[in-house]
Amino acid sequence: MKPVTHPILLSDDPTIDQALRPTVWSEYVGQEKIKKNLKILIEAAQKRNEAADHVLFCGQAGLGKTTLAYLTAKELRSPLKVTSGPALEKMGDLAAILTNLEKGEVLFIDEAHRMNRMIEEVLYPAMESRKLHLIVGKGPSARTLSLDLPPFTLIAATTRENLLSGPLRSRFGATFRLNYYDPEDIKKILRRSAEILKANATEEAVNILAKASRATPRVANRLLKRARDYAEVKGERIIDDKVALKTLELLEIDSLGLEPQDRRLIQIIIQKFNGGPVGVNTLAAALNEDKGVIEDIYEPYLMSLGFILRSAAGRLALPAAYDHLGIKRRGELL
Ligand code: ADP
Repeated sequence: MKPVTHPILLSDDPTIDQALRPTVWSEYVGQEKIKKNLKILIEAAQKRNEAADHVLFCGQAGLGKTTLAYLTAKELRSPLKVTSGPALEKMGDLAAILTNLEKGEVLFIDEAHRMNRMIEEVLYPAMESRKLHLIVGKGPSARTLSLDLPPFTLIAATTRENLLSGPLRSRFGATFRLNYYDPEDIKKILRRSAEILKANATEEAVNILAKASRATPRVANRLLKRARDYAEVKGERIIDDKVALKTLELLEIDSLGLEPQDRRLIQIIIQKFNGGPVGVNTLAAALNEDKGVIEDIYEPYLMSLGFILRSAAGRLALPAAYDHLGIKRRGELL
């Protein structure tokens, strides 16, 4: 399966990204219900002196799943061992990680939906009864070796919950779904990041960047970094509204955070398919884009804006989308 990427969601400088990642709960803005539930889960495990239950985080890229995993591990006073679905190719890859876990340790598997079934099958008994079943040898002399694992907590993250198999999903003690952030929360994140980056951003600039952030912290931070670059190169000492607007213009991002490809998607529905409904496969072909990327990256945000609708018959463009692109609807007066 092709990895799901979107230009603005790609991480750039890892050191800066690391510096911006919240390291204590109080810095983690929003997602209040999730934080509250997670803290209860952690505290209960600590009181019982047991490893915490396995946890699944679902949600769009950049909403803070990895950060939550780090915060949870920190609270459990355990280092976080990090891997990802695509990195676990062979049974031995996962076996090596599991057998090296220490009591109470937290294992984080990012992009869990990209694990293959063979790996999942090793994971089931490990999650459920802390057993690792390995097949040693080949042919008639092959035998199963069963190893006991220490108590550990698995935290998995996925952008595509529907691609996880039912048996895997059912083995998590808790599943948390991260939502898009409120504008006020995105502004808080931007102000905090500006402080860390020693960038002087005006409130107008923060408002402009927040609106274009796709309600996603990673995008907010990325736009801020680009605005800081622009200000630096142009010899501006502060990031004001003009710098923010110019940055967005250079990145071809509009006031609501739509990129050229988002706008093309809407235009295709409206102009080529009369506003829809149009099937996602047809849309993917017309846009020359992966169907998964359309479903996972473009559509959720466009739906959250009320620009498109997913119906059984296909995708439909809604009035707000026509208005945003300045396209007249059929029958609309001049
Ligand atoms: P995901 O794992 O969902 O793709 P990350 O946890 O890597 O997302 O988050 C991307 C970046 O966004 C983090 O490095 C952090 O700087 C920022 N971020 C995410 N969530 C929050 C939050 N709730 N508060 C503050 N910053 C956040």
